[in-house]
Amino acid sequence: MQPSSPTQCTIAAFKQKQTGSQNSYTVLAYYHLTALDDPQNEVREHKKFFQTLDVKARIYLSTQGINGQMSIASDQAKTYMDWLSSKPAFYGVEFKLQPCNEHVFPRLTVKVRKELVALGQQVSMDERGEYLSPKEWRCALEAEGDKIVLDVRNDYEWKVGHFEGAELFSCQTFKDFTHSVVELKKKIDAKKTKVLMYCTGGIRCELFSALLKQEGIDQVYQLHGGVIRYGEEEKTKHWLGKLFVFDDRLAVNVSGDESAQVIGKCHHCQTAAESYYNCANMDCNELFLCCPTCLAAFQGCCQKKCECAARVRPYELSHKPFRRRYHYAKMTKGEGE
Ligand SMILES: [Zn+2]
Ligand SMILES: [Zn+2]
Repeated sequence: MQPSSPTQCTIAAFKQKQTGSQNSYTVLAYYHLTALDDPQNEVREHKKFFQTLDVKARIYLSTQGINGQMSIASDQAKTYMDWLSSKPAFYGVEFKLQPCNEHVFPRLTVKVRKELVALGQQVSMDERGEYLSPKEWRCALEAEGDKIVLDVRNDYEWKVGHFEGAELFSCQTFKDFTHSVVELKKKIDAKKTKVLMYCTGGIRCELFSALLKQEGIDQVYQLHGGVIRYGEEEKTKHWLGKLFVFDDRLAVNVSGDESAQVIGKCHHCQTAAESYYNCANMDCNELFLCCPTCLAAFQGCCQKKCECAARVRPYELSHKPFRRRYHYAKMTKGEGE
């Protein structure tokens, strides 16, 4: 499903989002895989372009392309989308838009990375899984037949929300991936079983669908635009819980105000919970789901032991977990990305 004209597509989406919305900020999520000779130059041009804009972002560029997320003043979102789309290398870039009331990223980060999705492994992207539009994905979920649905996100993303009938496919490192492939091959017919793969915005599937095909699994399909686009078009159909996002919101409905069946459970008492917190013990910083009762009972900590640790943040109900991590604790490699 490629748009005939990227500019038309993004403008239409933008206008649709703005109608009837009083939100002053817009969250943009996008990626574009393309060979970039000089990603550092793109970083410089981005930084220059952003000088006059009200934007906070996490944007990574590499020789493989761009992967970005940002919150930007709504009246400036189109300015950026048009600017990026007008660059020949990023022609056709597709944006996903969500309204919000304030910045959801702690700062403006634009930098070069070796890989857009950290894996530490070269991947040939020549043969990727076939794209399924959100509607095609829904139909594939509903169809009878030999199929398996794989979630290629992190386990903490999975815990708060995922597709009905999906399985978590652990692939945070290449070692995890290799192990998961061995297990997968025991369960499926590598030639016949339809493998339906999804992630938040689509970029992980570009990579992992190609890797699965290289492993001899033939029928690999990927949800184009990820869960974000699916929620826009197909709402909560077959989706359970919330969508984890790597910004201050942490977990959002996949479709505006429409909430899906809660599947998250409080780390302490196992009752239904959809709010994530970082342990108030800064040297622990564990990300966990917690109900309001246990949050107070444990003073924002993941375990009793953490309450008496040396560096415990003041307990506050309205903290912003990712921002707190930036402010109070050193992030370990690979976290929050
Ligand atoms: Zn609880
Ligand atoms: Zn802890």
